[in-house]
Formats: sequence, C-alpha cells, structure tokens
Amino acid sequence: MAQLSLKKIEKIYPNGFKAVHGIDLDIRDGEFMVFVGPSGCAKSTVLRMIAGLETISGGELHIGRKVVNNLAPKQRGIAMVFQNYALYPHMKVYDNLAFGLKLSGLKKGEVDARVKEAARLLELEKLLDRYPKQLTGGQAQRVAVGRAIVKKPEVFLFDEPLSNLDAKLRASMRVRITELHSTLREKGHPSTVVYVTHDQTEAMTMGERICVLKEGTIQQVDSPTALYERP
Ligand code: ADP
Ligand code: ADP
Repeated sequence: MAQLSLKKIEKIYPNGFKAVHGIDLDIRDGEFMVFVGPSGCAKSTVLRMIAGLETISGGELHIGRKVVNNLAPKQRGIAMVFQNYALYPHMKVYDNLAFGLKLSGLKKGEVDARVKEAARLLELEKLLDRYPKQLTGGQAQRVAVGRAIVKKPEVFLFDEPLSNLDAKLRASMRVRITELHSTLREKGHPSTVVYVTHDQTEAMTMGERICVLKEGTIQQVDSPTALYERP
C-alpha cells in the first residue's frame, strides 16, 4: 500500500508563479525516497507541501488512507529534519529531544524511554547534558534527527539535512541515516522517508528510489541502479 500519494499536486505561489506542475507519485510504506534536482526545481516546495508548511494549490495529497490537504502539520503523522538543525540553544540535548514529547502530553516515563532509545540509536548518550553550542556539526545534526525519531512518525521528511556539514561528516551521516532506516524496519517500525537533496551522490547512495525533478515536473522515478544504467 502506498503510504504517500501525490495526485496531480500543484503549487502556485501568491505572486502567480507556478512552481509545481501537477505531479503524480506513490511512495510505498517504509520506502526511502529521494527527491533530487538542481536548485529551484521545487524539491523543497514539494516537501513543504507534504509537511503542511505550504498550502497545496491543486490536486490531492494522501497520507495513509487520508486526504491531508487541509490538515495541520501536527495532524499528519510526520516529522521533519531541517538543514539548519533548529535546536533550542538554551536547552540541553536531553531537553531538546524531550521537549516536543512533553508538550504532546506523553507521560514522563515514556518520554524518558523514547529519548534514551533515540540517544542509543544515534550514539548521543554521552552528549545528553551538553548545550547545542557545545556540539560539533555532526553531533548537532544527529540531535536534529533524534528529535524526529522520538515522535515515532510514520513519515520522516528530510530537507537537505547534510548540506552544512563537511565532506567527511556528510559521508558518515549518509551511512548513519540509511542504517537507522534499516534498523527501524528490522524492529518492525518501518518509517517512510522522503529525503530532499541537490547532491547526486547522496541521492544515489541513500535512495531506494529516486525521483528526479526538473522545473516543477517529475523527469524520472527509478532505483539507483536503473538510473545509473539509463541516466
Ligand atoms: P528547490 O528546493 O529545488 O531549490 P524551491 O522549491 O525552493 O526549489 O523553489 C522552486 C521554485 O519556486 C523556484 O523557482 C523558486 O524561486 C520559487 N519559489 C519558492 N518560494 C517561492 C515563493 N514564496 N514565492 C514565489 N516563488 C517561490
Ligand atoms: P523535568 O524537565 O520535567 O523537570 P527532569 O529533569 O526531572 O524533568 O527529568 C525527568 C527524567 O528525565 C528523569 O527520570 C531523568 O532520568 C531524565 N533525564 C533528565 N535529564 C537527563 C539527562 N541529561 N540525561 C539523562 N536523563 C535525563
């Protein structure tokens, strides 16, 4: 079953610019899908519409069995990881991970258990008492991913999460994120990932399928091997 379905999705910005031209795409339950393409091809617009951060001008967006066009971000069962980390500077790592869960009214014991599980998966256990400014770029980005994991979302959205990191860290985070996806799948909590990048290496090494965008339309959707053979 498709976890996410984009049916003739369009975006027209208030200034009249048509950024997305009726795209159709099914993303399977538990699949790791990468959107790739040059700057301005509408990767981020599409992701933001899925997240509910940008209104949908036309078409239908399905998450699971629901049409979610008019649902608020919080009601969509998604979590998003941004490129600029968006950590709370005045909170320790532990509280950065716990904050959203506490707000959602989860019991303290459950919050603690989820934070510790995420910390273990992302090797953040020794960093829980640090403040964001005491972290390296890679550590901060792991906390940002942790903040998404603790919500146990069915859908993870990543918007160029590695573009502020140096090449070496980028390479190790690529592996970490794909391994995390496999680990969650093995544990029986598969999560569907939509990952946006302009970096072709990232797309080819991380995606189970890759959706190539060009000027707000889909050029090709295929596995990395198929794309490699028929670029
Ligand atoms: P990408 O993420 O692939 O770099 P974007 O989704 O940011 O692309 O942008 C797609 C197109 O929409 C670009 O031409 C961009 O200039 C335009 N765009 C983005 N945001 C707005 C906006 N708020 N108003 C008008 N045009 C926009
Ligand atoms: P609150 O922020 O609501 O006052 P507490 O600070 O009392 O919550 O912590 C609640 C739980 O979270 C405790 O059981 C504690 O084990 C755990 N906890 C809090 N801070 C940390 C931390 N830095 N590292 C590991 N566990 C922590």
